[in-house]
Amino acid sequence: MFVSDLSDSPPARQETAQLQQRAIGAYLGLAVGDALGATVEFLTPREIRDQYGEHRDMVGGGWLRLRKGRVTDDTEMSLALGCSILEAGRVDAQAVAEAFSDWMRTKPVDIGHTVRRGISRFRRTGETEGPENEHDAGNGACMRALPIALATLGDGPEALDAANRLQAHVTHHSPLSDLGTLAVLRMVQTALLGGTKGQLIKIATELATTEPRYRFDRRRVENPDGYIVETLKAVIQALFDTDDFEPALIDVVNRGGDADTTGAILGMIAGALYGPAAIPRRWLNALDKEIAQSCRTQAAELLILSPHYGALRASR
Ligand SMILES: [Mg+2]
Repeated sequence: MFVSDLSDSPPARQETAQLQQRAIGAYLGLAVGDALGATVEFLTPREIRDQYGEHRDMVGGGWLRLRKGRVTDDTEMSLALGCSILEAGRVDAQAVAEAFSDWMRTKPVDIGHTVRRGISRFRRTGETEGPENEHDAGNGACMRALPIALATLGDGPEALDAANRLQAHVTHHSPLSDLGTLAVLRMVQTALLGGTKGQLIKIATELATTEPRYRFDRRRVENPDGYIVETLKAVIQALFDTDDFEPALIDVVNRGGDADTTGAILGMIAGALYGPAAIPRRWLNALDKEIAQSCRTQAAELLILSPHYGALRASR
C-alpha cells in the first residue's frame, strides 16, 4: 500500500489512539499494581487471608505504613527513568544514573539494597555500570523498565535490549535479570501493538526455553521473593491463569512476598494488554492524583519519542 493512501485515514488515526490508550494503561497498571501490592508486601498468602480474606481494595498500610493510593520505588523509579529519557531525548546511562541519584536524594519511602549500592557507587566513582554480579539478579531493574518499552517501540529487539541494559546496569548487572526484563518488555511492546495473550505466552515460553530457570509450568509460586526468577514466574502464572486486568492483579498480589513489585510488573503488562478501561475505577480513584497524572503524561510523551509512533504519524 502506498503511504499516501493512508493520509488522515480513519484506520491510522484509530491505531494511534488505541496505541496511546494502551500505553496509558501500562503506566497506570504499573502504579495501581504497586499501590495495591504494597499493602501485603512480605506477608505470606495465609497471613493475607487471615487479615484481608482476599486482598482486593486499595487501603494503604502494610509494613511501610503507606497512605491509601501511595506508590513505592517501583513507580517512582519508573518516573525518574522516564524523565531522564524525555530530557535527554534518548536512553542515556549518565542521565539515567543522575535521575536515580536525584530520586534517592528525595528520601524515598522504600529503596532496595542493590539499588542503593549502585547509586552510591555512581556518586562515588561516576561509573554508570558496575561489574557483572550474579547477586544482582533481583527484580529492581525490571520493575522500573516500562519507559524503555514505550520510548523504543518499533526500534527492534536489539535496540530494546541495548537500551534496557543501559538503565538496568546502573544498579543491576545481571544477565539473568537482563534476559527476564527483556521478555517483560517484549510482552509489553507486543501488547501495545495489539498482540494477544497467546502471543505473550509465546514470549514467556521462549524465555523458559532459553533459560530453564524461568520455567513457569511447574509448582505454583507463592510468596515470591525479590529474585527476578521467582518474581517473573509468579507474574507469568497469574497473567496466563486469568483473562482480565482485575483478576490477574488480585491473583498476583495475594501470592504475597514482594507483592508491590509483582503487582507493578503484572500491572504494566496487563495494562497494555487489556487497556486502561479494564482497570477498576475504585483503584484509579484511590491512586495518588499527582502520580496518576505523571503516569498519563509520561506514557504519551515517551510514546511520541518512539520510532513506531513517528512512522504512524508519517503515514497519516
Ligand atoms: Mg516497591
